[in-house]
Amino acid sequence: MSGDPRRALPKMDTVLAHPQITEQMRTWGRPLLTEMARRALEDARQAVLDGVPLPPLDDIAAAVTRTVELLTVGRVQEVINATGVVLHTNLGRAPLSEAAREAMLAAAGYSTVEFDLRTGGRGKRGSTANALLRELTGAAGGMAVNNAAAALFLALGAFARDREVIVSRGELVEIGGEFRIPAIMEAAGARLVEVGSTNRTHLCDYVDAINERTAMLMVVHPSNYRIEGFTAQPAVSDLVAVAREAGVPLLHDIGSGLLRGRMGDEPTLEESLKAGADLAVFSGDKLFGGPQAGIIVGDAILVQKLARHPIARAVRIDKVTLAALEATLLAHLSGRQQDLPVLRMLGIPLEELRGRADRLAHELGPQASVREGTGMVGGGSMPAERLPTIVVEIKPHAVTETAMVSRLRACDPPVIVRAERGRVIVDLRTVPPGQDAQVTTSLLKTMC
Ligand SMILES: *Cc1c(COP(=O)(O)O)cnc(C)c1O
Repeated sequence: MSGDPRRALPKMDTVLAHPQITEQMRTWGRPLLTEMARRALEDARQAVLDGVPLPPLDDIAAAVTRTVELLTVGRVQEVINATGVVLHTNLGRAPLSEAAREAMLAAAGYSTVEFDLRTGGRGKRGSTANALLRELTGAAGGMAVNNAAAALFLALGAFARDREVIVSRGELVEIGGEFRIPAIMEAAGARLVEVGSTNRTHLCDYVDAINERTAMLMVVHPSNYRIEGFTAQPAVSDLVAVAREAGVPLLHDIGSGLLRGRMGDEPTLEESLKAGADLAVFSGDKLFGGPQAGIIVGDAILVQKLARHPIARAVRIDKVTLAALEATLLAHLSGRQQDLPVLRMLGIPLEELRGRADRLAHELGPQASVREGTGMVGGGSMPAERLPTIVVEIKPHAVTETAMVSRLRACDPPVIVRAERGRVIVDLRTVPPGQDAQVTTSLLKTMC
């Protein structure tokens, strides 16, 4: 034995000077790389003590960069969504408009989030967004919080704590993850009173359940499922009449924030307010096309009570989101809905999609073909609705479709696609037209 083998361990400075590490240091900085190098050297020292030969410097450097890679690979990164799923839950639901992105950037520094430029005094967070919301919807009150789950939590906590809320058994929705109507009810301290049955609930079921502990009637849009066949659910306007008679408010969770018009059987805000809902709640980042937010509109006094409730502070919207929400509200108000990517993408004419798909397939060659397909709105909206679309189908000769899909994820920016029965499916509906060329390049690179 020629002395202690641990003394042959490279010095920290030597590891940090390794080209692979200096390269990563440019992105992640010295302190992080130093810490990871310290751990790698510790592991090497331990390995030597255990009788394993001393790893070469290159291996130690590789271990360091691998750890840093593992730590940072999951960060939020831009991707190209070529799945055709417009409100892709895992890809951040609604992509934001240019105006919203610019507004977010402007708000990111010092901004007038709670400052009144006219008086130089304190301003009220969200007051402009609330005013725009009232203009847009015609409702007397409006406010925005962190998301729709927070909006419900706030309303239930403020109006139904230790009291009863009546909901149809057909509407005890789970949206995904932790969001379930019975659970949020319990968390907010409200007592859920289920009425009716899974498929049929009648007006008299609600009437019979009303007593002096009743705080609220709640109607929830079953966003992500449909009950079909022998079904019944009273009209919101009839339930409003029951609620009025009982002297309690009716809250309508309309889900995805379609303002008016027709899209599948999505409820619209206009219908909900016209039916007399005291409060209507929806997500900002679904069909409304804005940032993550929970939007509440309706009766001015109720909304004011919500705004003053302590929970409101706990679920308040942050300045950057607020700026994006204002920009989104302005797009709706000024009739420029086409500036909102969600609405633009859902409305792309099939012929336009076909033209882009033809060009892409032509560039890709004989392994690609164009066909009609069915897309999805996504985000739990319109589960029963088929969105006719045009897709490019690729049957790669040299690689399996799963290998190609994962190679596409490793592109810069990553390209997310679907795979079906041995084929890679590309739907350009969700790709900004300016990025078609980039998608083409990445597909060409990964299919052989
Ligand atoms: C999506 C959805 C929610 C949850 O909204 P978040 O903004 O994600 O909290 C609640 N209720 C309904 C009916 C929904 O569709």
